[in-house]
Amino acid sequence: MYRLKEIILWFEWILVIIFGLCFGSFANVIITRVPHRQSIFCPPSHCEKCQTSLQPHHLIPLFSYLLLFGRCAFCHQRISWIYPFTECCIMILACISFYFYSFSVNTILIFLFFTSFFIATLIDAFHQEVHAEILFFVLLLSCIFLYFNSEFFLNSLIEPLAIIGFICLLSIFLQAILHKKVIGEGDIVVLAATAILINNLYLFNLILLSSSCLALIWLLIKKQQKIALLPFLFFPTFYLFFGQSQ
Ligand SMILES: [Zn+2]
Repeated sequence: MYRLKEIILWFEWILVIIFGLCFGSFANVIITRVPHRQSIFCPPSHCEKCQTSLQPHHLIPLFSYLLLFGRCAFCHQRISWIYPFTECCIMILACISFYFYSFSVNTILIFLFFTSFFIATLIDAFHQEVHAEILFFVLLLSCIFLYFNSEFFLNSLIEPLAIIGFICLLSIFLQAILHKKVIGEGDIVVLAATAILINNLYLFNLILLSSSCLALIWLLIKKQQKIALLPFLFFPTFYLFFGQSQ
């Protein structure tokens, strides 16, 4: 009996890993096509360099990359490391969500929240663009998560909305005195989603403080005028959310 339980548990973990890798592969399609306003369904997956359509056995997440030694099967040009990196990260996100919430609605919500946040982060980091559709999907997921996990949904919304109202006023104030946009609209949507998901003023302030410090250090090291904020917001949110879930 104990052996059967162990086999089922292993089977569940293998399923979660396969699901995470496949979703990671789909995320790659979104990351490469959405910034260029291309459809995510057609044309079928192809090599970026020689444009040859890929065969089904070239589409196995992570393993195809490893078996082909990171090169295209047709033109032998190098395939970007970002593809297996995204697949591995999303597989890890699936495993962590499953570890904390097992098979439940919360697992799906948290997995989709952090995966969409991660996709938006990569697009912001590589293309310096934010996509309203992805960000509002993240916001919607945070509201659904709060709805399922809070006794008084509307009451729990008051504090996060007050914080976001304050951040909006701060953004307008900074824009007025510095004559440039310091906090973008996309960043405010993600901050709202984070505040709703975390639903804890102390933790949210900790996220704001750590992401501001990380962004400031990056600005000083790279000597840049403008940076993408989402990557600096993603890691503290991820760390503190799962930290408090323990
Ligand atoms: Zn090729």
